Amino acid sequence: MRRRSLLKGIAAAALNSVAWRQLPTFASTISLIKRRVRPSDPGWPSAAKWEELRRAVGGNLVQPQALFAPCATEPSDIACTEVMKNSRNPFYLGEHPAGTQVSGWLDAWTPAPSAYAVAAHKADDVAAAVNFARTHNLRLVVKGAGHSYQGTSNAPDSLLVWTRAMNNVVLHDSFVPKGCAGKIAPVPAVSAEAGAVWIDLYDAVTAKGGRYVQGGGCTEVGVAGLIQSGGFGNFSKGFGSAAASLLEAEIVTADGAIRVVNACNDPDLFWAIKGGGGGSWGVVTRVTLRTHDLPQFFGAAWGKIKANSDDAFRKLISRFVDFYAKNLFNPHWGEQIALAPDNTLKVSMVCQGMAGDEVRQTWKPFVDWAKSDPDVTVIESFGAGAREARRWWNIEGNTSMIPDTRAGALKHHGWWKGDQDQVGAFIHGYESLWLPASLLQESNRARLCDALFAASRHKKLELHFNKGLAGATAEALSASQNTATNPEVLNAFVLVIIADGERPSYPGQTRPPMDVNAARTDAKKIDMATAELIRIAPNAGSYVSESNYFNRSWQLAYWGKNYSRLRAIKKKYDPEALFFVHNGVGSEEWSRDGFTRL
Ligand SMILES: Cc1cc2nc3c(=O)[nH]c(=O)nc-3n(C[C@H](O)[C@H](O)[C@H](O)COP(=O)(O)OP(=O)(O)OC[C@H]3O[C@@H](n4cnc5c(N)ncnc54)[C@H](O)[C@@H]3O)c2cc1C
Repeated sequence: MRRRSLLKGIAAAALNSVAWRQLPTFASTISLIKRRVRPSDPGWPSAAKWEELRRAVGGNLVQPQALFAPCATEPSDIACTEVMKNSRNPFYLGEHPAGTQVSGWLDAWTPAPSAYAVAAHKADDVAAAVNFARTHNLRLVVKGAGHSYQGTSNAPDSLLVWTRAMNNVVLHDSFVPKGCAGKIAPVPAVSAEAGAVWIDLYDAVTAKGGRYVQGGGCTEVGVAGLIQSGGFGNFSKGFGSAAASLLEAEIVTADGAIRVVNACNDPDLFWAIKGGGGGSWGVVTRVTLRTHDLPQFFGAAWGKIKANSDDAFRKLISRFVDFYAKNLFNPHWGEQIALAPDNTLKVSMVCQGMAGDEVRQTWKPFVDWAKSDPDVTVIESFGAGAREARRWWNIEGNTSMIPDTRAGALKHHGWWKGDQDQVGAFIHGYESLWLPASLLQESNRARLCDALFAASRHKKLELHFNKGLAGATAEALSASQNTATNPEVLNAFVLVIIADGERPSYPGQTRPPMDVNAARTDAKKIDMATAELIRIAPNAGSYVSESNYFNRSWQLAYWGKNYSRLRAIKKKYDPEALFFVHNGVGSEEWSRDGFTRL
């Protein structure tokens, strides 16, 4: 039955020549794939076949080497010096075919290059790679800018489709998704090829265009990867998730077809890529996002307070939660505070649509209290203010940003200083939980504060308010509701992230040996902190792209009630799971490495 409806689907697409050419091979492999082939297997494509693929993709086929491979053979070589100099530059990592933005995860995954990579320059290159992988039964993996914490853009013995070279950005005054004329009103929009990173869009849309596009907080994250994660940025309480603004995408599906999907064409697939997880649906080659009116100001507030005792820290947490609920729980405010075992509360909040005076006035009562209460000490002075939103991502004169100073680097490429520690980090453990806004009600606040205090005894907690959408504008909520992300996000006021790791530890990198036992103890502490929060939010969901590799209920945690619909869409468009990622939709049928059907 499934086979018949699939064939019908393909027949309908027969006018698309790419799909038609592939029909015999595709149909003949349905439900037969038990195992993908590795380079050591007899079924691995011959050198002549790889040569054919190289020609088909305009020569853009490479055999990637591990990031630190040059240092294994010749540590004094210029290539080794180059990687050592640049390995803390996220743009450099994103531009390396074997580059990953984290250097691995304890007991989970280790960076390892694919056997081959197509450095795609156009959708036809991608289609050629997808067809090749399907025909030869290869493990296929997709990478944009390489920010997967869970290593889902990394797979040894695979063929990699790497989109980083496709990074054009085009603005539209009035965009109507293809085939939607008369059904969807034209809106200002931006189209970006899949390999663009968010700073490319912020530069084009905001700095040059005077409008706003909702993307991610980290400037160097890939656009297609983030949108398929759902995606949250500083101002998501004002504009929703990144996926919520998606109007259209071009995607190469497992049958090799290049589809333009939107609310009118393949609406189910369109919905799935809005938060259904990267690497599971096809290779997205282009996205078009609605742009929004740019607020006049973006602002920030920062500082750090230390409580003089555990009791004083409880009081500090309670004081902040009251302050947050009354003053910051609204579409203006996003980003974070951190609560640490050393009884400190660090504020790194941002806001949109408020002038400097208003920002300072908002924080004054809390700051005045902190300065005058004898039980707490302000250990990093408080600051607050705002600047013209249009200049928010300008690098020149911006002391919060690190410019990419490599020769030939784009002038607008830079990253936030606050993100530097993450570049190349090796992960010991990671967890995230959405906490429902009901916990902010006065009757529940004491429970919330007790749990935050208890959890902070084990590990530092980061409270990312912009990654829970309760308190957002009605428009942002309604657009975000129409995505595949776990609907819990709409009722959550915050995503709590508990994570830790150490400095970079790429394979082949020279560094003192890791203390594995200490790292495992660290991971356990993250579990213990999580358990304290689970007590007050037993069914807490988790953000697919910032979550625990070892989460056993990932289907429910990432997608909640949306999972069954996603599973059906996966079966329709990719019945053989050519697109596999760890803990991605449909991955439960495959071994952890995606090579063997269970
Ligand atoms: C340092 C850091 C900062 C982050 N900051 C934020 C943040 O501010 N907000 C937020 O919401 N998230 C954030 N994330 C999570 C991030 O959004 C996701 O990991 C996202 O998927 C990364 O996309 P990428 O292209 O950079 O990574 P990649 O590792 O290249 O890709 C991630 C996943 O998406 C898939 N994918 C990538 N490109 C495509 C494509 N064209 N078609 C199909 N599948 C594709 C890959 O197969 C992989 O499964 C951050 C992650 C890191 C490591």
